[in-house]
Amino acid sequence: RPRASSDDISTSPGVENLVIIGSGPAGHTAAIYAARANLKPVVFEGFQAGGVPGGQLMTTTEVENFPGFPDGITGPDLMDRMRKQAERWGAELFQEDVESIDLKNRPFTVQSSERKVKCHSIIYATGATARRLRLPREDEFWSRGISACAICDGASPLFKGQVLAVVGGGDTATEEALYLTKYARHVHLLVRKDQLRASKAMQDRVFNCPNVTLHFNTEAVDIVSNTKGQMSGILVRKVDSGEESVLEAKGLFYGIGHSPNSQLLKGQVELDSSGYVLVQDGTAKTSVEGVFAAGDVQDHEWRQAITAAGSGCIAALSVERYLVSEN
Ligand code: FAD
Repeated sequence: RPRASSDDISTSPGVENLVIIGSGPAGHTAAIYAARANLKPVVFEGFQAGGVPGGQLMTTTEVENFPGFPDGITGPDLMDRMRKQAERWGAELFQEDVESIDLKNRPFTVQSSERKVKCHSIIYATGATARRLRLPREDEFWSRGISACAICDGASPLFKGQVLAVVGGGDTATEEALYLTKYARHVHLLVRKDQLRASKAMQDRVFNCPNVTLHFNTEAVDIVSNTKGQMSGILVRKVDSGEESVLEAKGLFYGIGHSPNSQLLKGQVELDSSGYVLVQDGTAKTSVEGVFAAGDVQDHEWRQAITAAGSGCIAALSVERYLVSEN
């Protein structure tokens, strides 16, 4: 039986109290709280499956909105600090991908590329991956002109006061476009179809915003740069006529959605129609007792480092309660 009070934390022989899958802000925060509660969590940081150890922030430069860093901090530095804090309190970390999970039998089994771990509870914090267009020069301009997060990057000096573009026709794209009008000189919304998929309310807001120009039947083909190698425009193509032209823009924001990394839970835990893990309102509880979810893999709405960290905290505290109640 699992045990979890601060003075009696022995696990059943060969069975861990808690396995945390993922090492983004959600996974590391869960690890810090669980380790401080003497749960001795085992963390699979990931290696390739759904990103890299440290998660999405490893692909960005400055993070300006994480509380406690008034001058900003680079994404990798922030994640390194979270990792060290988890380690300091005794979390055991493995830079391995989890390849399968068995939730049908108890204790649960988590199989990574290197080892098999039995455990009484799991926090699933594998994040989400922003969908990309795979433009030929995308890697060259990722974080140097191309972004997948207006809230994260809109106010950056790279984009402030500039002409920007957003690609997509749903709620995400329209929200990104409207958000960017706070900082940008003008925003172009590139929509492949001849209409928006966004909700009526969002459509009305976009149509009525003088700082947004809609381009229907239009797709982005590639990034155009100036002689200094900086992004200066977007090669766009009319879907109906095939006609190509260059649209002047200093930034391109992807608003084409995210894919939650929930593959391992398919058929075992309830997911929504887009693959996000369903948690009971305001908690980290999934449809399987003892399995909790945190961060972007269960959040299609906010998708911020601080909200991921907050839900990691909730998940760890929930695990502690669960293990005590199971004793
Ligand atoms: P993630 O950070 O996505 O981490 C998921 C983890 O799960 C990774 O460690 C991955 O390796 C691991 N994993 C996946 N599959 C497996 C597996 N099978 N086995 C083991 N491990 C696995 N937010 C802000 O608040 N401010 C910003 O400035 C900001 N800038 C951003 C810039 C960019 C370019 C991007 C892409 C996002 C940005 N965000 C920002 C959003 C923020 O990064 C995410 O909301 C946050 O990282 C989500 O945390 P998470 O822990 O849920 O998941």
